Amino acid sequence: MAKKVTKHIFITGGVVSSLGKGLTAASVALLLSKRGYRVRLQKLDPYLNVDPGTMSPFQHGEVYVTVDGAETDLDLGHYERFTGVDCTQASNYTTGRIYSSVIERERRGDYLGKTVQVIPHITDEIKASIRSLDSDDVDIVITEIGGTVGDIESLPFLEAIRQYRQEIGRENGLFIHVTLVPYLKAAGEMKTKPSQQSVGILRTIGILPDILVCRCERHMTSEHREKLALFCNVARNLVIEEKDVAHSIYEVPVELAKQDMDVYILELLRLHVDRLDMSDWQAMLKTLIYPENGEVEIAVVGKYIGLQDSYKSIYEALTHGGIANNVKVKVRMVESENIEKNGAGKALAGVSGVLVPGGFGDRGIEGKIQAVQYARENGIPFFGICLGMQCAVMEFARNVCGLKDANSTEFASDTPHPVIHLMEEQEKISDKGGTMRLGAWKCKVQSDTRTKTAYESDVIWERHRHRYEFNNDYRKRFDEAGLTIAGLSDDENLVEIIELQSHPWFVACQFHPEFQSTPLKAHPLFRDFVGSAAQVRVED
Ligand code: GLN
Repeated sequence: MAKKVTKHIFITGGVVSSLGKGLTAASVALLLSKRGYRVRLQKLDPYLNVDPGTMSPFQHGEVYVTVDGAETDLDLGHYERFTGVDCTQASNYTTGRIYSSVIERERRGDYLGKTVQVIPHITDEIKASIRSLDSDDVDIVITEIGGTVGDIESLPFLEAIRQYRQEIGRENGLFIHVTLVPYLKAAGEMKTKPSQQSVGILRTIGILPDILVCRCERHMTSEHREKLALFCNVARNLVIEEKDVAHSIYEVPVELAKQDMDVYILELLRLHVDRLDMSDWQAMLKTLIYPENGEVEIAVVGKYIGLQDSYKSIYEALTHGGIANNVKVKVRMVESENIEKNGAGKALAGVSGVLVPGGFGDRGIEGKIQAVQYARENGIPFFGICLGMQCAVMEFARNVCGLKDANSTEFASDTPHPVIHLMEEQEKISDKGGTMRLGAWKCKVQSDTRTKTAYESDVIWERHRHRYEFNNDYRKRFDEAGLTIAGLSDDENLVEIIELQSHPWFVACQFHPEFQSTPLKAHPLFRDFVGSAAQVRVED
């Protein structure tokens, strides 16, 4: 029997950044998996950081964490949410990561005295990263190239995928180019020229796209399609329109399927076209767009509020929680410094739930603590995540246990009550990132808690990204004051979840549940948080 070949799809972007290549990749992956294929996704990022872990959320949006602890680009969040398939360390490579491994090998003498060069050594390393996803269990790998065609730093990646496709052959690899077809108001028409030029740049590199995905605000006419097909050397039916969707990003795959994009891809890759069953996805969309139980407003109190992408997975997980409860979640983004200036009562008036997400650094921290206090004292459902849990612990220590000035040693190293601190063994490691607890860890769930009700399980696995921990010296004191420890690490040394039983719904966790929520299956804590917020609203 012939050895199974893993097929490859390469997605590039042209004209402008932020076109939604990641969403296109995720949507194509969903369609192919709904046709019965086992699909993996990968993003190659041309920037020099070894991973996005060291980048501020203001720079690059949220850092998405995989099960195996990779700190990655937020597009991987889309990949997982659309396909339900976990990404890994092999799902995100940057220029920095590629160069570090080549340079490491050069230092070890692995190149046997040769001159080490971008071509072939860097391009070979990129090809090896792409090939690392090939396996008997994978039918199709989709590789998205970050950045825009024409950028200097993208060149080695484009050369690598050109070579890759040349090596595996046309029937085993194809190129999709996502481009912009803007509408010029003054001229009253849509313009295809930027796309033609972008394809022109690709052509000079030796890549001829097989499929053109045109991002646009208005429908294209058949003349636009003809023109693009003719000047970009793409078959007419392979000029796909990806118009802005009306309600939700989860509509994108449906729009692509209407144009049979997945069918054409499978035909180009000489793969059998099985039936497409999107019934669960369609049902989910219907609930999302036309929820039966109205709207619930939830405040997200953070410091990166200005940039939509900084809390991407949080907002998505709230949407999923809404779907699970048949309500629309309206998010009120609250800048925590605003609470410090104007008070929690003003900023949070009227919301049915308060969520304090993760974060680093002390700016706005007191505003977050005030938000916790407001939710606790007013019986408003509260969900704390990572730094949000740490704030909840500080608030409880100060205002319930009377531990004045209780703090985290991240923000006040000389606090008299370090209720959140670094564990002794962590203090010894000084290298940045060295102490970070990353990836999925096992957590034991306490019975008779809201957490247990949500998960219906005694053991859960959740993803982490933090350094500081709940200080065990305060466990007894907190317990006596009414704070329940609802989840512990496997060795019972780390507090992973806290709750207040005397409150309608007050749960906070040290891990990041938002990374494991999907539209088809909301994360249980997000589901129950939104559910209790809807309850509070109904009872008002
Ligand atoms: N800054 C906190 C810590 O390092 C919380 C991190 C987070 O919220 N991801 O522990």
